[in-house]
Amino acid sequence: MAATPDTAATSASTRDDARSDKDKTADGDGSMWLNNTGVCVGLIPYRRTLGTLFLLIVTPIVPVLLWWVIQRQDGDLARVAGVFAAEGGRGVMAFVREVPSPVDVRAWQIIGCFIGLALGLTRLIPCKMYKGPPSPTGYRNTYHANGVEYFLLMNALFVGGSQFGLGLYNGGILYDHYGEILSALTVFALLFCLMLYVKGITFPSSKDSGTTDNPMFDFFYGTELYPNILGWDVKQFTNDRFGLTWWAIACLSFACKQYETFGYVSDAMLISVCLQWIYLLKFFVWETGYFCTMDIQHDRAGYYICWGCMVWVPSVYTSSAHWCVMHPITIGIPLTAMCLFLGAFFIWVNYDSDRQRQVFRATSGEAMVWGRKPQMIVATYRTEAGELKQSLLLASGWWGLARHFHYLPEILAALMWAPPVTLSYILPYFYTVYLTILLLDRAYRDDARCASKYGKDWAKYQEKVPYRIVPFVL
Ligand code: NDP
Repeated sequence: MAATPDTAATSASTRDDARSDKDKTADGDGSMWLNNTGVCVGLIPYRRTLGTLFLLIVTPIVPVLLWWVIQRQDGDLARVAGVFAAEGGRGVMAFVREVPSPVDVRAWQIIGCFIGLALGLTRLIPCKMYKGPPSPTGYRNTYHANGVEYFLLMNALFVGGSQFGLGLYNGGILYDHYGEILSALTVFALLFCLMLYVKGITFPSSKDSGTTDNPMFDFFYGTELYPNILGWDVKQFTNDRFGLTWWAIACLSFACKQYETFGYVSDAMLISVCLQWIYLLKFFVWETGYFCTMDIQHDRAGYYICWGCMVWVPSVYTSSAHWCVMHPITIGIPLTAMCLFLGAFFIWVNYDSDRQRQVFRATSGEAMVWGRKPQMIVATYRTEAGELKQSLLLASGWWGLARHFHYLPEILAALMWAPPVTLSYILPYFYTVYLTILLLDRAYRDDARCASKYGKDWAKYQEKVPYRIVPFVL
């Protein structure tokens, strides 16, 4: 069959691998399993089950634990770990006794208002609908392309409602109720994922759905690629309109809380909040590009993505600004300016590399990259229906330095917004460490997925661009 062109707007994935046992990769003995992201989730099925079970048990504890360490234990993760190790059960019980109730009226009011505004504004802000790339079954999902307006309006509404505007609440309101909010969100998101699991099985929104023989795994990775409820795309809602917007607003609330407590905003907080806010604004500028990434094209709407964006992001991703609230550290104008400058620079590099790939694919490799005609590899792959297709792989610009170079500025920006506040605490760096592990793993997973999709053409790209993330190092 002849190969057909496949540019950015039409970059389809090879298949939705989580579907069934028949989706084992052809690696000889068939023992390697891939999920729908092309993720190697376990060499044999029982490891997949145990790994999923482990994550389902451990991850719901982390958000509230993190809150407890920050707000009840002076943000000292090392000390808490020491107490847990020395006192065992008694140390753990001290935490368990203070776990906030998920049934808290104010927490649910805040979550309800946020969700109501997110859903309402997504629909009400006039915009074009953006058509995403075709799925393995040829389906093209549509999205509301009003990210920047939405993001700015949500942030403006939060500030406008606080003491700096209408005075309906104190800006530090999220900080004041964060434990109860995280407890409530954990429960809400679990129920939401359960509903998505059932929906994917009983009335999926597109043909990109299905199950394996492992219900727990299906709950974790999802049963549907593009669920839609009453006209709202679920992943656009959970990932961007809820998770990432909450992240920005929580940071603003933490800065307000520090101001309410100490009468000023410290250098460390300023750096942390400014950089995260710029990073998130950048995300919404690029939001339509996000609809062509792994999260959207390959990850189904399950616990991994949806719970992660609704609970893990508000907790772990905001942790350095959260920690800064009660640690008003001053580092002086020169260091503050340097952190802000470097952080903004890394955010720009990350944005520019994402944008470079997006423009390259959208123009079928015609657009200049760093002032020159780009080097590229025409890679072929076979779709689920057996059709032969082509994708273009960029081997110039940022994408010529390393195959996942864009992860490096992402990590460095996160290091900058956990500013060099102190070396006596680990917690401000928790997100940076977590992100480094996540992106290292992601680089390997994406390489594995692309190698299985493009075969020898990916090997050609690897030969041309031998480094995975850091040129000359890794
Ligand atoms: P992307 O999905 O953007 O990129 C990987 C995909 O791009 C590959 O699967 C392949 O897809 C295509 N591709 C790979 N190499 C090339 C090439 N040389 N030329 C053209 N296309 C190529 O990656 P991510 O989703 O991981 O990252 C997107 C952004 O999100 C980044 O800025 C990243 O830093 C950020 N991110 C942030 C995280 C966080 O928690 N803060 C977590 C993960 C990402 P195809 O099948 O189309 O060929």
